[in-house]
Amino acid sequence: MADNAIPATLIEGDGIGPEITAAVVELLDVLGAPFAWDRQSGGLAGIEAHGVPLPEPTLESIRRTGLALKGPLTTPVGQGFKSVNVTMRQEFGLYANLRPTKTVVSGCRFDNIDLVVVRENIEGLYAAMEHYLPDGDDPKGLAYGAGFNSRRECARIVRFAFEYALANGRKKVTLVHKANILKIFSGIFLEEGRRVAAEYAGRIAVEERIVDACAMQLVTDPWKYDVIVTTNLFGDILSDLTAGLVGGLGMAPGANIGTKAAVFEAVHGSAPDIAGQGIANPLALLMASSLMLAHVGRFDLSHRLDDAIEKVVHRDSVRTRDLGGQATTKELTQALAQAL
Ligand code: NAD
Repeated sequence: MADNAIPATLIEGDGIGPEITAAVVELLDVLGAPFAWDRQSGGLAGIEAHGVPLPEPTLESIRRTGLALKGPLTTPVGQGFKSVNVTMRQEFGLYANLRPTKTVVSGCRFDNIDLVVVRENIEGLYAAMEHYLPDGDDPKGLAYGAGFNSRRECARIVRFAFEYALANGRKKVTLVHKANILKIFSGIFLEEGRRVAAEYAGRIAVEERIVDACAMQLVTDPWKYDVIVTTNLFGDILSDLTAGLVGGLGMAPGANIGTKAAVFEAVHGSAPDIAGQGIANPLALLMASSLMLAHVGRFDLSHRLDDAIEKVVHRDSVRTRDLGGQATTKELTQALAQAL
């Protein structure tokens, strides 16, 4: 292992996972990325090897490395397993979900999109306190749901967004909320957002947008946005909306950043319908690895990787079938390797 090697956990994942992780690892090798992989199992492979989708050796490895690249995991059918994502979120305090959206393939309805959604990942309505209440004769006639947003967490996610903006040469952060109606529940986010934003005055611009107006503008004029920061539910919806602007989930990388670890992944699932056929699109996981390089401070390698993707996929039109092309995973990987 080289002196400057950075230990990182690698989970191949299920379905197309092994195909796309092999492509990504090969390309990172060509790039000279510093990661020293500790290969661990997860998902169905984890169940096969250790009886659970997120086995203890895998958790132990991430505890040690604090850094993981994760292929898509198939959710086992039936009950009895705690969700992999929930387990990771709790175990590693993954409070920030980062979803950059960039046009790579022009002609996908929108060109020159380059924005990032930062979603608060552990509070809000997804803290899921919900139950039924009776309504007349129907014991389950009403559904009651509640959530919470803490000042601490709101301030932390907004600060994360501003720090990300500074580190990545971004110019503006938009606080997205619904404080006009949810005056306390969403209002606390806006209050904390304004307080934190004031600390960055003169360095990063700030604006505020109500979530419904934001959704409309993201479709009519997405170029208005740079970094969006918002609470859990709004971020979940807006980040899929923005993935749709640039060609869907096959082009969407995600990062889950926490106090104890950072986990990078493609947003899409294990695509069992095309697994083993050699036609999977590795770009989302490859872009996730580019975020991982930036996370460890290797912006030089991250930019080189992004440039190669731009050249091969956008200019040379080497594309897999999900993007309207004919290239196999292997052909795309070879073209990218030559461009690096
Ligand atoms: P999916 O994202 O796996 O597939 C949806 C469609 O998109 C399929 O037609 C698939 O072929 C296509 N697709 C997805 N990724 C692609 C790629 N890289 N290249 C080419 N085509 C691609 O969603 P699903 O079918 O609903 O879920 C399959 C499994 O994945 C389920 O078990 C689900 O729980 C799991 N899942 C895991 C994650 C994760 O680990 N992050 C995320 C979503 C779904």
